[in-house]
Amino acid sequence: MRALRTCPFCKGRVRTQRIEHVHRWKGALYILRNVPAETCTQCGETFFAPVALKAMDQIVAQRTKAKEHRSVPVFSL
Ligand SMILES: [Zn+2]
Repeated sequence: MRALRTCPFCKGRVRTQRIEHVHRWKGALYILRNVPAETCTQCGETFFAPVALKAMDQIVAQRTKAKEHRSVPVFSL
């Protein structure tokens, strides 16, 4: 993936790592583990490479391949 050296927002240093990402699509939530991302060590902003975004869209379109299903509590204030 294309490596960023600095955060475009705060110019902080970014670190490449694999994260757990909550993806929202058509009103549903998907938890994607092991997603390659670059996270700013200063402001915490996360950046995904275009290839990772495309892979996430493909994964949620084939959600029958999910590793597990979790229930999510929903509250209203
Ligand atoms: Zn930043």
